[in-house]
Amino acid sequence: MATHVRICTHTVLERIHPSLALRSIHDERGRIITRFAELVEKHADELAVLESLDAGKHPAVTKAVDVGNAAGSLRYFAGAADKIHGETLKMQGPFQAYTLREPLGVAGLIIPWNFPTTMFAIKVAPALAAGCTMVVKPAEQTPLSALYLADLAKQAGIPDGVINVVPGFGPTAGAALASHMNVDMVSFTGSTEVGRLIMEASARSNLKPVYLELGGKSPLIIFGDADLDMAVELAISANFFNKGEACVAATRVYVQDSIYDRFEEKLAERMKSWVVGDPLTDARVNQGPQVDKTQYERVLSYIDQGKREGATLLTGGRPCGQKGCYIEPAVFTNVKEDMVIAKEEIFGPVMCLMKFKTVEEAIAKANDTRYGLGAGVVTRDLDVANRVVRSVRAGVVWLNCYFAMDSDCPFGGRKMSGFGKDEGMQALDKYLAVKAVVTPLRGSPWM
Ligand code: NAD
Repeated sequence: MATHVRICTHTVLERIHPSLALRSIHDERGRIITRFAELVEKHADELAVLESLDAGKHPAVTKAVDVGNAAGSLRYFAGAADKIHGETLKMQGPFQAYTLREPLGVAGLIIPWNFPTTMFAIKVAPALAAGCTMVVKPAEQTPLSALYLADLAKQAGIPDGVINVVPGFGPTAGAALASHMNVDMVSFTGSTEVGRLIMEASARSNLKPVYLELGGKSPLIIFGDADLDMAVELAISANFFNKGEACVAATRVYVQDSIYDRFEEKLAERMKSWVVGDPLTDARVNQGPQVDKTQYERVLSYIDQGKREGATLLTGGRPCGQKGCYIEPAVFTNVKEDMVIAKEEIFGPVMCLMKFKTVEEAIAKANDTRYGLGAGVVTRDLDVANRVVRSVRAGVVWLNCYFAMDSDCPFGGRKMSGFGKDEGMQALDKYLAVKAVVTPLRGSPWM
């Protein structure tokens, strides 16, 4: 019945004037992306199982974080689809000009394995809103959710050929995308090393614009006036959320000397109730297995290196369970800034605890890294907060919280953590080309 009414109205409008029956392509695009968001939410349970099987992720994390962010991002950019417009310019002389913002073309989207559903959506959503077609290359460890999401996109009404998922290995499938002459841009999330290769591939092929969301070694600075219980919880979640497999994990925790001893004691006590195990079968579990054996061995070798360099394990740092890639979350004390564990991204459950005295020292230590992705500050002193927030070189600074993010919040790093933003309206610009159109006015030699 509803369809019948719509068809009748459509026909009547067409008879009055054909343009009345046309629905804007941008409006339609927004509707379809919204339908895609609804389907992602509807299938949260299936996505949670797929991510647990592929990446060992906690189903609750997939549902609340991955699916929540994915649906949020799709909705946000669905709303942006009919708000893409250029500007009218005032030129010198007898001309006028305006700009068009057009889809850039084919987007190459290369994503990692730690938040596969979120990563898929935060790149696909703005590309769709801009009107691009795209090739998505999921990480070899976690292709299932991307394939499942592509099927949901089809059910939502996204035409064949718009979203193309090509699972494969980085050096073959990923490299082919980065160097392809018919791919017009690449948005990449992954390691700094591979980010460099992607830039090189672009330089050697068609000079496509490249946007890189890379690794991090983020600081969390806890001042002496902090609520100690809250600060301990924040340090734990900022390090061990998602098994420490988070690019913005605050793996360098700086605690002011006035509260350092009490902080250390409380942290050690709190870690006694942290449960490592299979999140699919045990509801008490806080932390599941690392994504694969390679990553598991990599994390353990960093822990060995920390011990060899003279840092002290306050808690954890051992493999646990009879089988599987489970690691007891490690908290290192007596860490020196020049130790490898304090400098390199480990991408696993390893926290380095360090001391500072003054605000200036905290800022200098926080900035003493080649990375610039995230940072956290815990203090009740507004003046201190302002000084640190403005002085830390990072893409996002969390004040008295950590990890909170939303679709309108631009996300991306500085320094060797990359450039370009996912999320926020800035993300849309990556997928649009600006074209200037110039026309003569009456009185010009051309009119
Ligand atoms: P990775 O760089 O090894 O792989 C990421 C993606 O790149 C995968 O899809 C992989 O197949 C592909 N790839 C690998 N070699 C390639 C090549 N030569 N050419 C093209 N593509 C290639 O990283 P990873 O191990 O999957 O993920 C962990 C890294 O990702 C960490 O450094 C982490 O900090 C970073 N990361 C960053 C963010 C962020 O937003 N900044 C988010 C998540 C992860």
